[in-house]
Amino acid sequence: MKVVLTLMAVFSIINCNGQNNLEKAIVTPSQIDTLIFLEKQFSKNDSTPPPQNEKWYRFLPGKNNKVLVTAAHATSQMREGAIKRPDGGTGSLALWLNKYRNIPVLVTSYMSPSDPNYYDDNEFKDSLSKIISELKPILIIDLHGSHPFRPYDVDFGTMKGRSMSKRKYLLDSLTLELRQNGLTNLSLDYFSASTNQTITKFVWNKGYSCIQLEINSNYLSADEGNIYAQKTAQLLQALIRFIDDIHPNPRHK
Ligand SMILES: [Zn+2]
Repeated sequence: MKVVLTLMAVFSIINCNGQNNLEKAIVTPSQIDTLIFLEKQFSKNDSTPPPQNEKWYRFLPGKNNKVLVTAAHATSQMREGAIKRPDGGTGSLALWLNKYRNIPVLVTSYMSPSDPNYYDDNEFKDSLSKIISELKPILIIDLHGSHPFRPYDVDFGTMKGRSMSKRKYLLDSLTLELRQNGLTNLSLDYFSASTNQTITKFVWNKGYSCIQLEINSNYLSADEGNIYAQKTAQLLQALIRFIDDIHPNPRHK
């Protein structure tokens, strides 16, 4: 039995062509420094109302339109008369993906007068609607940060599978990349994205695939240094490898 298990372990890291599956790391320390810099800039305004004639959200276009990333809680937000704190690190993560993978991103940039992941009737959702009908992305990823005491590294909000039902292979691919990069404790639908008027529900109602990524904030705290910066680098590497590998149809892979 022991021999069989050992052989299985050996074969699991060797693919059917007999080649080793190990890949060279691609995220560099200077890219993590860039993320820390972006977060410093971003967090300056994350709890202040926008100046006159400025919007409370920003759209950064990209040339790689297969994925649209949103960070709907990148800044503090008004919900039922109370101000909720931002999901720290999600705004800079979106900007970083725009910079290094040229994907379009829609982020809140000042305090949101209307929580875009709770209400539909706001400018953020109007803008999102126009962007997706123009770009027709294969997948929308809505970034969120979860409390560090949560047991999971990442929770996938999929409306109990519905929001990814047309592109289940993308969920499989994302799971694989996260696991290969050390994010092994994954959860499904702890926050299902189906209760409130979420970004995921809004986009799914328009016929697009969407996933709400609830990332444990231990992976969004690169400025804490050492192990936290490494965890962030692992998350970033998983996300860019996943994005690089996206095809409209898995048969074309
Ligand atoms: Zn959130």
